Amino acid sequence: MALRLVCTCGYVVQGVDDDEFCSNVQAHLAVLHPELVGAVTREDLLAQAEVLALGSALQQPPVHGLQGGAGRDPQLGAEQDS
Ligand SMILES: [Zn+2]
Repeated sequence: MALRLVCTCGYVVQGVDDDEFCSNVQAHLAVLHPELVGAVTREDLLAQAEVLALGSALQQPPVHGLQGGAGRDPQLGAEQDS
């Protein structure tokens, strides 16, 4: 069942099911609200989520990880000329 939550910052988080929704919310929190990571439970998220009408949910393509990588800082071994 598709879910949606409008964050206090105005960001809209969606997911096609509970698992995707929660992981998308956690990814958003990790980037913009790190102080809330771990403080908000899955039950809290689902309780506040808005259930999208089935018809409109079916017309939307599945959301594949909303820029979950933002804020990540890949520390791959940089080439070094020495
Ligand atoms: Zn937010």
